Amino acid sequence: MRFLLRAFLAALLASHLLLAASGDPTSKQASPQRIDLHHHFLSPSYAAYLRTHGGNRTDLPQNWTAESSLAYMDASGISTAILSITIPGLDFGELQEASRQARELNKFAAKVVRAHAGRFGFFAALPMPDVNASLAEAAYALDTLGADGVELFANSRSVYLGEPASEPLFAELNRRRAVVFIHPNQLPGPKVPGLKYGAADILLDTTRAATLLVTSGFMARYPNMSVILSHAGGSVPFQAVRIARASARSAANPGPSADDMVADMRRFYFDTTLSGNKYTLKGLLAFTNASRITFGTDFLFGNSSLLDASTRGLDAFFGAGVNNACNCAEENNTVTGTGGTGASSGSGFGQLWVLS
Ligand SMILES: [Zn+2]
Repeated sequence: MRFLLRAFLAALLASHLLLAASGDPTSKQASPQRIDLHHHFLSPSYAAYLRTHGGNRTDLPQNWTAESSLAYMDASGISTAILSITIPGLDFGELQEASRQARELNKFAAKVVRAHAGRFGFFAALPMPDVNASLAEAAYALDTLGADGVELFANSRSVYLGEPASEPLFAELNRRRAVVFIHPNQLPGPKVPGLKYGAADILLDTTRAATLLVTSGFMARYPNMSVILSHAGGSVPFQAVRIARASARSAANPGPSADDMVADMRRFYFDTTLSGNKYTLKGLLAFTNASRITFGTDFLFGNSSLLDASTRGLDAFFGAGVNNACNCAEENNTVTGTGGTGASSGSGFGQLWVLS
């Protein structure tokens, strides 16, 4: 079953509103409505690959079944989950093996989708940073297997999305009007003792890739692809102006203006994965239109209490009597709220984006 992102988003927003309107937004008894765009899976072959190559992902379950996802989805009011893989991806320096794993994962996911009509879709795994192999796999997954889009890790073997070598892939994804799901990876470089990479590093990894996609001009040159950033976009919604000003063009660095970069950053989609709390959601709604916020859980990663806490936070935020969480006018770069919880109150807010 193949989905289009805009249909996802319409259903997503409707699902929030329907659950909010049910009078019991936190109830798990509500009929399944949500579409989970950030939902991880393993194939048996990939699980074995991780055991021999993946090193430190001891926190991942050793196997996955569609039934385990379906049980979680049914208990969480999720009608459909779009499957993708998680950190550390599948490239460990062996190109042929990475390509083989990508093909096996994509065929496995397509089989799951066919076996459970309407409950699953998938974002295709690609063997980045090999651009040519990724182009070939994207074509196969999208054309032959009916993938809903592609998953790209923010960096693969220290090569970031937005670097010049990745441009042919983005040009092709733009030509296809593809959905591009960007997932963080482990940060290149040494780990900080005592700091869980899931706490801060992955947010920086997403921020690095998103920033490079904007400063490189990719987001401006390829406006037809729909790009989803994980975990509320890392720092992007909250530091967009700071990022743009720090990246602004100069004689030595001709590129987009700061204003244009902020506008390009507002064209990302942002998922709510592990980000369902009033502080993050208020900041997100201050930055972007509610229709660019997608629902995600990070199922399979972490423990269920972590996932549930985020979803409960979403329910509490969107369900607190706010049926129209944000009334945003993207055309003129202003954001006006409806005055309720979750809405940015915003007369003059757009002035923040007039950069010099
Ligand atoms: Zn994830």
